[in-house]
Amino acid sequence: MTRTVSAGGVAIGGGNPVVVQSMTNTPTADVRATVEQVRRLQASGCEVVRVAVPDRPAAEAIRELKREVTVPLVADIHYDHRLALAALAAGVDKLRLNPGNIRDPEKIVAIARAAGERGVPIRVGVNAGSVDRRFLGPRGEVTAEGLVDAALWEVELLERAGFREVVVAIKAHDVPLTVEANRLLRREGDWPVHLGVTEAGTEWEGAIRSAVGIGILLAEGIGDTLRVSLAGDPVREVEAAWEILAALGLRRRGPSYVVCPTCGRTGIDVPGITRAVRAGLAHLVQPLTVAIMGCPVNGVGEAERADFAILGGKGFGTLYAHGQVVQPKVPEERLVAELVALVLQEVGEHA
Ligand code: SF4
Repeated sequence: MTRTVSAGGVAIGGGNPVVVQSMTNTPTADVRATVEQVRRLQASGCEVVRVAVPDRPAAEAIRELKREVTVPLVADIHYDHRLALAALAAGVDKLRLNPGNIRDPEKIVAIARAAGERGVPIRVGVNAGSVDRRFLGPRGEVTAEGLVDAALWEVELLERAGFREVVVAIKAHDVPLTVEANRLLRREGDWPVHLGVTEAGTEWEGAIRSAVGIGILLAEGIGDTLRVSLAGDPVREVEAAWEILAALGLRRRGPSYVVCPTCGRTGIDVPGITRAVRAGLAHLVQPLTVAIMGCPVNGVGEAERADFAILGGKGFGTLYAHGQVVQPKVPEERLVAELVALVLQEVGEHA
């Protein structure tokens, strides 16, 4: 079991539910744009939001952001330890430090003291792209052992300074390297582990790489919080994170979909219906299973076990709720509206 740290009231580690994080990609000093994005992230299920702090105006903006949003904020700090101190003074809930580019022990200890006074945790975030040269292999290669040593170097500095509110992350774009490094890390101590595959790509390949890397580790019981890193709208990171957690049965938020892959038997537009149903139910947070199946072969069993289902025929579908047929023959063009209305009625909303 890892130790527990608290970031703005959100518990990370200690067997608490795996926390979903993301990061804004607006200029942090543009408070209006950043508030809008943080709110979208929170609405989509993000529980801790990181913001880049590349300069003093960004650090100062945290003060105003904290007045506008309720989700805990993490300041992402590189190069300049004074930005960490400024972010702490502005009321940030957590820091991320990169041991690859703030290397002066005195400066790190100064951050630890200021964070300790405020009860703010620090994530030691090692990234293969910025690991200190001291921790590279003899030919300049990045190794799992080197990534772990880079993290432990800073963790030990913090702990020698009496600071224990530490979270550790080791990320690489290489999935096997990320997995191996996190396995090694987990054996070294009881710090909560933040998972991620960094620089994973755009939505499609990034989500797959992240699901493989993060999924392997979570399935082994490693990981207390995670961020899926995607180039694009960070809301998609949050959606991917929840899919990973739901796929492993760790946490669920909103509808999960059981969708047949379609084949020569399919008699309705399964992909189109699924997209439309997903859009109609996107705002729900209640865990539900919705099956959309193209024919009775596997459809009957899936429909009977789902909370709600469409079982396709030729140009029509049968609607199920909790294993029972509720409308036997709905024309295809009415299927989306009828299913969405049925679900919303159950959860107390009206279509
Ligand atoms: S459920 Fe029916 S339509 Fe869908 S893939 Fe299976 S056999 Fe094909």
